Amino acid sequence: MSQSLIYRDCPVCDSNAAQPHWQKGELHIVRCGRCSMVYANPVPAEMATGKFYDEAGQDYYLSVDKLESDYADVRFERELRLFRKHCPRGAALDVGCSSGAFLFQLRKRWPADYRILGTDASGPPLDYAESRGVAVVRGNFLENEELRVCAPFDVITFWAVIEHLAEPKRFLDKANSLLKPGGLCFVLVPNVRSFATRLLGRRYRYVYTQHLNYFSAPTLAQLASAVGFQVVTIRFTHFNPVVIWQDLRGGGRDISNLERAQLLRRTTAYKQSTVMKPLRMVYSGTEKLLGALKLADNLVMVFRKR
Ligand SMILES: [Zn+2]
Repeated sequence: MSQSLIYRDCPVCDSNAAQPHWQKGELHIVRCGRCSMVYANPVPAEMATGKFYDEAGQDYYLSVDKLESDYADVRFERELRLFRKHCPRGAALDVGCSSGAFLFQLRKRWPADYRILGTDASGPPLDYAESRGVAVVRGNFLENEELRVCAPFDVITFWAVIEHLAEPKRFLDKANSLLKPGGLCFVLVPNVRSFATRLLGRRYRYVYTQHLNYFSAPTLAQLASAVGFQVVTIRFTHFNPVVIWQDLRGGGRDISNLERAQLLRRTTAYKQSTVMKPLRMVYSGTEKLLGALKLADNLVMVFRKR
C-alpha cells in the first residue's frame, strides 16, 4: 500500500474539530466534535482516489463466490422490496454498480417497468455487467459528462458505496443534479450504531481501510440534507451472527477478500437451503427486532430531491 496520506475535514459538516475514536493498525478513525460523524482520517491516497478498486479489489469483486452470491435471487431481496415500494417504474441509475447484479434483478423481475443504467469507476466488473445485458457508463462519477446525456433519472441508488468515498457529499450532490424534481435517491451504508458495531467496536471486520465513513441515521440525513434531499424513509436491515461470532473470537484480525467472498457464498447458501428453514425463521425474527430497535447491520435511507 502506498504511504501517501490525505487529510480531510468532516465529510458531513466540514468541521475539523475531531477526536480519536478507534485505532486499528494503521487505520485512524475519528469522531467529529460538531456533528458526531465517525470517519477515517487521514486516509491512504489510493483509497481516496478509487485507484485501489481498479487494481487490488478485482480478486474479490470478480471472484466466482462473489459473483454467484451477487447474482443469487436472494442477494438484493430487501433492497428490491423497498425500491419497488417507492419507485414502481422509471429510469434508474445505480452508482458503484460493480458487476450489475442489482440492476439485473430489477429488470429480471419487472422487465417492462424500468430503464436501467449502471456506472462504476472499476472496469472489469462492468465488463461482466455488460455480459449479463446491463447497460453501463464507465469512469469516475464526479467527472463523467456522459451521464448528463442520459439524465434526468427518476431514481439513483448507492448500495454500499458511499462509505468507501473520501468526498461523499460531492457524490450525493451530483446525484441530486441528475435527478428529476421529486426524484428518489436510495442510500445503503453500514450502521455505525448497529448491535455488531457496539459490541465489537474496532474489532468489527467492517472497521477497515476500505471504509472511510461510518454513518448513523442522523449523520447520513444531515449529509443528504446539505445537498438538497429530504428524508422519505429510514430502514435498518441485515444481521450476520456468523460475522459477529467470528470477530468476537478473532479479536480484530484482518479478514482477506477471499474469506469475505467465501462467507458471502455460505450466507447465500443458508438463505436458500430448505433444511435451514426453522433456523431462518428465528433469524428473520431477530433481524426484524434489531431493525425495529435501529440496531441492524445496515442503514437504508430513501431521499427525495426537493
Ligand atoms: Zn461533522
